[in-house]
Amino acid sequence: MRMFDIIRKKRDGGALSEEELRAFITGYVAGEIPDYQAAALCMAIWFRGMDAAETTALTLAMRDSGACFDATGISGLRVDKHSTGGVGDKTSLIVSPIVASLGLTVAKMSGRGLGHTGGTVDKLESIKGFRTDLSADEFRETVAKTGIAIVGQSATLAPADKLLYALRDVTATVDSIPLIASSIMSKKLAADDDCIVLDVKTGSGAFMKTEAESRALAALMVDIGKRAGKRICALITDMDQPLGRAIGNALEVAEAIEVLRGEGAEDLRTLCIELAAHILALSETGDLDACRCLASEALSSGAALECFVGMVAAQGGDVSCVHHPEKLLCATHQKTVCAPREGYITGVDAEEYGVAALLLGAGRSKKEDRIDHTAGLYLHARVGDFVPAGAPVATLYTTACPHAIEAAAGRLLEATVIGDAPPAKKPLVLGVER
Ligand code: URA
Repeated sequence: MRMFDIIRKKRDGGALSEEELRAFITGYVAGEIPDYQAAALCMAIWFRGMDAAETTALTLAMRDSGACFDATGISGLRVDKHSTGGVGDKTSLIVSPIVASLGLTVAKMSGRGLGHTGGTVDKLESIKGFRTDLSADEFRETVAKTGIAIVGQSATLAPADKLLYALRDVTATVDSIPLIASSIMSKKLAADDDCIVLDVKTGSGAFMKTEAESRALAALMVDIGKRAGKRICALITDMDQPLGRAIGNALEVAEAIEVLRGEGAEDLRTLCIELAAHILALSETGDLDACRCLASEALSSGAALECFVGMVAAQGGDVSCVHHPEKLLCATHQKTVCAPREGYITGVDAEEYGVAALLLGAGRSKKEDRIDHTAGLYLHARVGDFVPAGAPVATLYTTACPHAIEAAAGRLLEATVIGDAPPAKKPLVLGVER
């Protein structure tokens, strides 16, 4: 089977067979298909799409490109939540310890930043010493002992996705419903958790810009998960503005710690409770309202924070960073951007905020780029807030890219709309797909 023919078939709008998709994945992982042909196929899929049968076949081929997680020695119901990617989305750092503190098992394999969005692994690595590269045995032992660990996707877990994810990141082929669904679900099925809650972001900072696209992605992923025998649901949540106030790795860890301390931004806290409650409900801990109360108590009692500290210690991280998050915030350069006029912030382009953080060093433009963990933005004003002329809107931080600070500041201001009347309030959770 020639890769040329597979690319041409999809380019011309044909439906790929299970055999063709398996041949692509097997050949790409074996190094027999070069990046340029894989990129060409991703672009053809981006333009032509794939139907549910093709997407499921691609997902299963990607899952089978490596080994599924071996949970030997780990007891309890294994649960996970996965976001489709947003700006300032640090919910995994909060939701995972909430549910682990309530007795569920979290053996989480997370990704790195993708495009303008951040990744949990990059965030955790801003804690000095924190190891996201535990060996399979270390990972299993840590989860068995503490009930929670978060590591990077191992080389053997859906290796096809690891390769494709990095390729799509730099070839403008991320925002495709079948490619996102197969990427996410191949990892989720290989991780083999019992209960999965998906957080499908929608809006200017999400890969899916419209609610209709996000609902389609949610329905497709829930369908794939159910066919594979998983307890699964998807929340469709607002990403028309960044979640919380911090964007960028260390800044986001510090903000997550604030929420774990029972403080922090209201939208971030509310969404974390909602996601945790859906995980707890899938695991039959109780009805949704009772689960919301349990999740909220885990934050107010300090149980979730204690669980996070235990995870940081078990993975070699410096726990003093959790007790003193200011230690994480050590960028050498900063600039505060101020409102050019008085008024209400009526809207922001959240993707542009993510790009501004990326320019400062918080993300990657090329797959080889190194992250500046100190880089990012802190938002002083958010959608709906009134700002007097000259009031601070955001502070930009960087260590590695001081030369980019003016350009990032310009993009941020361009992406911030100030008007005379307050905007209508939008709900955080727009729907649930079951
Ligand atoms: N997150 C993933 O894991 N994969 C994608 O393709 C997009 C977001």
